[in-house]
Amino acid sequence: MSGLPLSKVLVTGGAGFIGSNFVRLLVEETSFEIVVLDKLTYAGHLESLEPLLDGDRVHFVRGDIGSARDVRTVFAEHGPFSVVNFAAESHVDRSIDSPGDFVQTNVTGTFELLDAFRHQGSGRFLHVSTDEVFGSLGPDGAFVETTPYDPSSPYSASKAAADHLVRAYHRTFGVDAVITNCSNNYGPYQLPEKLIPLMILNAAEGLDLPIYGDGSNVRDWLHVEDHCRGILAALERGRAGDSYNLGGLSERNNVEVVDAVCAALENYRPAAENEALEGRSYADLKTFVSDRPGHDQRYAIDPSKAQAELDWGPTVTFEEGLRQTVRWYLDNGRWCQAVQTNATRNRIGLADDEAS
Ligand code: NAD
Repeated sequence: MSGLPLSKVLVTGGAGFIGSNFVRLLVEETSFEIVVLDKLTYAGHLESLEPLLDGDRVHFVRGDIGSARDVRTVFAEHGPFSVVNFAAESHVDRSIDSPGDFVQTNVTGTFELLDAFRHQGSGRFLHVSTDEVFGSLGPDGAFVETTPYDPSSPYSASKAAADHLVRAYHRTFGVDAVITNCSNNYGPYQLPEKLIPLMILNAAEGLDLPIYGDGSNVRDWLHVEDHCRGILAALERGRAGDSYNLGGLSERNNVEVVDAVCAALENYRPAAENEALEGRSYADLKTFVSDRPGHDQRYAIDPSKAQAELDWGPTVTFEEGLRQTVRWYLDNGRWCQAVQTNATRNRIGLADDEAS
């Protein structure tokens, strides 16, 4: 199977946070024709693809990667294409409540895509995974591509299982597959059940800023645009059968992240001028809540391999990326309202610092 990405790419989960940013990057900076396959779960919103669906570069198909029929149909009707697989159940807390959905989409869905790709596909299968497959780190060190898998949550276990299937399809059937494992993403179009947008919107409305445990859990933060450029680099230049760690070189603990959100908000909408604050500062809204079961203490990524082989590295500093992100959420109230379904409106207690 040829490793060259074709001029057409199937983007699964393209109506979600990272997928929609990736489609936007492809439209703006490449000549790819794009087919989006998305089930439009609570996490998928066509508003995130506006106005990209108006032109003739992006075709949208509503369908389930866990359904053999949906997957085979999109291959038959729109293929051949390379595949970039973002579609997943991505919220760690939800995986504790209903792990079966995660096995169905993240494991069975990846299997259905791989199997269709093996028979009907062409080009490359790029699978988007997470650093959470590696488990938790102590105070030092960073995950490299050869770090043994040691997932803690049903979410990370389902992503680990999918990664193993991708590797198995490469080794057994010769499928041209590449995996990327990235750290916590942030940026525009992220659903406000994840830590950074949740904190921005809650703070702006004078609501509590719930932080798990003592807030000392450390994550590496990667701006979504940097991540999308890394995925494109791996699609175009990655070595078949290999995986690449994509990290932001921006480790912060959760209290530092929330403090940075408060500082950025203060800059754009001073608390003294925000009636919802009733005289409090943004930092006064911080509330420490019971820790999540199995909460990994620290993740960190060593992106040297991607830097050396893909000529990729993070370019957006956390401070600058966060300022832009806060500005974006303040300027995009219409999008925020559209995506805040009942499932996400109950925000307190759903903060997900795993971001996925
Ligand atoms: P998201 O939850 O914002 O979006 C997921 C998208 O997949 C949604 O559009 C949803 O409708 C779609 N989807 C869900 N189940 C589907 C199914 N069965 N069939 C078709 N579509 C389905 O997720 P995200 O944050 O954009 O993450 C994208 C990918 O990146 C995921 O695979 C996730 O594991 C991985 N990842 C995310 C992060 C992060 O920080 N957000 C970090 C590491 C890895």
